[in-house]
Amino acid sequence: MTVKRKRFIAGAVCPQCQSKDTLALWRDSDVDSVICVKCGFTQRQTDGTNAEKRPVPEHIIGIFDPE
Ligand SMILES: [Zn+2]
Repeated sequence: MTVKRKRFIAGAVCPQCQSKDTLALWRDSDVDSVICVKCGFTQRQTDGTNAEKRPVPEHIIGIFDPE
């Protein structure tokens, strides 16, 4: 009973090839992963968040500098 089933995300657009309805979601080792069956794009989602990873620019810290 450990069949890996891919669930396609309706209406989702691949960020790499811009194709629609090609993104599949499945759970691997407690990590949600997304794969595009068309171009092979993969994305792992950790920490149980569904949000995309956003790189935080370091220089944004200390942006407040009242003169
Ligand atoms: Zn793709």
